[in-house]
Amino acid sequence: MFKKILVANRGEIALRVICACKELGIRSVAIYSEADRNSLHVRFADEAICIGPPQLALSYLNIPAVISAAEIANVDAIHPGYGLLSENANFAEVCEACHIKFIGPTPDVIRLMGEKEKARAAMKQHGVPILPGSDGVVASAEEGCEWARQVGFPVILKATAGGGGRGMRIVREEDELPALYRQAQSEASAAFGNGDLYLEKYVERPRHIEFQVLGDEHGNVVSLGERECSIQRRHQKLIEESPSVKMTPELRKEIGEVLSKTLSHVGYHNAGTIEFLMDQERRLYFIEMNTRIQVEHPVTEMVTDVDLVKSQIMIAAGEKLADVLQGPIVHRGHAIECRINAEHPEKFTPSAGKITTFNPPGGTGVRIDTAAYAEGTIPPYYDSLIAKLVVRGKDRSEALSRMSRALGMFIVEGIHTTIPLHRRILADPEFRAGNFDTGFIERFLAKKETAI
Ligand code: ADP
Repeated sequence: MFKKILVANRGEIALRVICACKELGIRSVAIYSEADRNSLHVRFADEAICIGPPQLALSYLNIPAVISAAEIANVDAIHPGYGLLSENANFAEVCEACHIKFIGPTPDVIRLMGEKEKARAAMKQHGVPILPGSDGVVASAEEGCEWARQVGFPVILKATAGGGGRGMRIVREEDELPALYRQAQSEASAAFGNGDLYLEKYVERPRHIEFQVLGDEHGNVVSLGERECSIQRRHQKLIEESPSVKMTPELRKEIGEVLSKTLSHVGYHNAGTIEFLMDQERRLYFIEMNTRIQVEHPVTEMVTDVDLVKSQIMIAAGEKLADVLQGPIVHRGHAIECRINAEHPEKFTPSAGKITTFNPPGGTGVRIDTAAYAEGTIPPYYDSLIAKLVVRGKDRSEALSRMSRALGMFIVEGIHTTIPLHRRILADPEFRAGNFDTGFIERFLAKKETAI
């Protein structure tokens, strides 16, 4: 087993990884920017190294600075968390070259899944259902029109290097396609330095459902079931839950089996998430794979009792899945997560500054993952997620009641947060009934505005 791990991240996920290290008896090393000097991940790690000024490019995304810290601290492995360098194949390669274990899949697999149209082809080849669309990159607007005619409008243009919903355009009619193609291409070039686009059939009112997998370095891959992530605003998830009200045991088993087989073929190891859209006939279609731990992983941990971050570390140390999991995956109860962002709850503008009061709820079935505290400051430079409130109940009804009461007891003062928005969503009859799709939040906000 590793003796020392560097955590190449900040905020709640850095703390989450440090917790896993502590439980495994591994020393942890935090890295931090000058803006994070007083952060809890710095306080709770066994060692901490300042790696630069606040700007991401000069600190947490600065590969030479991160690697130097790892060498100075003499660590065996690096856990990248999510975001930042977690899906950077080049970083994983540099770690390998420096004989530091990157806790994640191989650079080749990260690269394959990072090019979304290649990932689509790999999934299709092994029998994972994908949406009808172009075979690879669409070279011009004319070629796009040809594919779209075959597939049938509406279609969606997507950036092969995509992420965060950028470089995506819905095309409803053929004559709109050339202009939208140009827009998506320039947005993708600006965001990713790569303007390549591909095209997919657009699904009306889909649900976003993803599968969590774990694979070891001996060819074994297991599915831990799904998370429902349809409650999103501008493609950013706000609430996640497991199980999905639309999932059946048969479908879960079928998709789980095809994913295990496919990812074992691809040589996938460590934690990963495969994202699907579900249409109104409950058919699932692959859209992309994330080759890292996800923000919403606690939802799966709550219903399976598997510690995903400890599993990642044990797998990276060479352990077999059978030894990591010690038994079959069993799903118990229902879990829900609300992402608490430092944002204005309706305008969604960031709200950095000093937290004056921080009173997180507790009690049966409640879990909080956070690095925030009273008198602490939320710097303006980073992601706005400050806490994840996760509950588990014996069924969805109990989980909903528990979440409502926990949100009512969560007091954060000094900055704006999304807590009031979550309280309102939890009271919405459609949400409570499980009747929603990825357009829920936009409709919910529009409804409220007319009501005011
Ligand atoms: P990104 O990597 O930029 O987040 P994704 O491919 O994961 O892009 O898609 C993000 C979101 O966009 C999905 O959760 C879904 O809401 C919407 N979306 C993507 N593809 C389609 C599609 N073919 N039909 C309908 N909605 C889609």
